[in-house]
Amino acid sequence: MPTVSRHRFALLVAAGLLASAAPLPALAAPDGDSAAIARIIDEGMNRSEAMTTASALMDRIGPRLTNSENMRKAQTWAMDQFRKEGVANVHPEPFDFGLGWNLDSYSVSMVSPRYLPLTAIPVAWTPPTAGTLRGPVVVAPMAREEHFAEWKGKLAGKIVLVSLPGQTYEGKDPWFERLTDAKIAELDTYTMPVFDPDAAALQVRNRSFQGKLAAFLKAEGALALVKISYRDSKLIHGEGYNFQPGETLGVPAIELAQEDYRRLVRLAKTGPSPEVEISISARYDASNLRSNNLIAEIPGSDPKAGYVMAGAHFDSWIAGDGANDNGAGSVTVIEAARLIAKLGIKPKRTIRFALWTGEEQGLLGSRAYIEQHLATRPVDPALKGMDSYAAWRNAWPITPKGEYSQLKAYFNMDNGSGRFRGIYTEGNLGAGKLLGEWLAPFAMLGADKLVASKTGGTDHVFMQAIGLPAYQFIQDPLDYGSSVHHSNLDTLDHMRADDMRQAAVIMAGMLWEAANSEKELPRAVLPTQPAPTDPFKVRDPAQ
Ligand SMILES: [Zn+2]
Repeated sequence: MPTVSRHRFALLVAAGLLASAAPLPALAAPDGDSAAIARIIDEGMNRSEAMTTASALMDRIGPRLTNSENMRKAQTWAMDQFRKEGVANVHPEPFDFGLGWNLDSYSVSMVSPRYLPLTAIPVAWTPPTAGTLRGPVVVAPMAREEHFAEWKGKLAGKIVLVSLPGQTYEGKDPWFERLTDAKIAELDTYTMPVFDPDAAALQVRNRSFQGKLAAFLKAEGALALVKISYRDSKLIHGEGYNFQPGETLGVPAIELAQEDYRRLVRLAKTGPSPEVEISISARYDASNLRSNNLIAEIPGSDPKAGYVMAGAHFDSWIAGDGANDNGAGSVTVIEAARLIAKLGIKPKRTIRFALWTGEEQGLLGSRAYIEQHLATRPVDPALKGMDSYAAWRNAWPITPKGEYSQLKAYFNMDNGSGRFRGIYTEGNLGAGKLLGEWLAPFAMLGADKLVASKTGGTDHVFMQAIGLPAYQFIQDPLDYGSSVHHSNLDTLDHMRADDMRQAAVIMAGMLWEAANSEKELPRAVLPTQPAPTDPFKVRDPAQ
């Protein structure tokens, strides 16, 4: 918009002046309600509550590991927030998850040859230490069960560094990034589908190694397991997946910053082993093994017209405040609900909002919603957590449930807090036309691109996998991938207020248009079992 300022443009839209301007037909909502869109833009741009809502969640409540006390506290807050906004049918929907785990305090330091506090984080769901433990470190790289024999009888009383540290990373990618048109154009490629039935089984086998390693350490009388962070620059994460009762790690486990890990390895190699002190105060809670998704609605006027939906995962990891992953998406959903509720008009279709949990452990909350509302797949019920996640995609057939035909559009947000630049058609090329029409009023806000590629790793994925119209927006990466994702840097500081306002306005606008549109997004066919993509593949037995 080179000749009209954004503010002036909003006023023109509000006055209905541009809606009929012949040279700019794409700028008005073609079959939605342009007056409502203008009101959403006005409220969201001039009286945004996104950042104050974000501060209440991230600064005051903090990280939200699924099924922790902090998660439950945050959910009570979120339900209040929806109700205050005038959103209806606010309720939790429980699903089977696993143990609660609450981290009360911890400290990790080197105490010999000198005192040095270390940058470390307990691995989520680790057992606590009995008070403060102290011991010499040993570097004992073990990546497979056959490596255990070499360390038998050598680990008692030791703090075990379980890998070699490798070299310091030479970063080539930018730390902070906004997408150029050329970068966005690169996303506009159809992603060829891959069906590799063996890959899921391999994923499950590799993941269970951590539990076996901790059990070996326990049997050997080791004090603790130390793993190296997967990023340098003092970034730590603390992801852990041993949250099923009876499957928790045998010894306390921490993740150590690369710089601190390398120093310990150098000291151990060149002189007497350095000594480390670890104290972790954490509590398991087996009293409620179910977690909740939160659902809220703005009821529609036509019960036969189906519903549209927006969602984001509310859970986070533990090292930061869960601000960009995925407080940003959660706040955008909460703010979008406020912007629509504020209109005080009933949409044609019901607009449903979801704050998922268990996403970080394998999209467990959104999958539970699918199983409860949309469709089932025959997964072995004995598989839990990540194992069940890996198996779900390859379980056939898909059996639709009652709401399968009623869900007309789902918009997910989980790629940090960067502003929206357009939308992925997720390989459903036929959906592009209507998505583009709905997006048109927001071109002036910088969201004007449609790209063909698929996005993965979050809560729309399993909806896509069963053929439902579930989409994510293209977002500027900012510093999400380089440093913030899952790390101790995931704080409110890394959210941009202007980006958050923009995202909430577009989320609300797209929902409003989808809810009122005369047209419906074209659906993919109900997927049936594909043939293996590579029929000649022979798996390397060493893998
Ligand atoms: Zn996420």
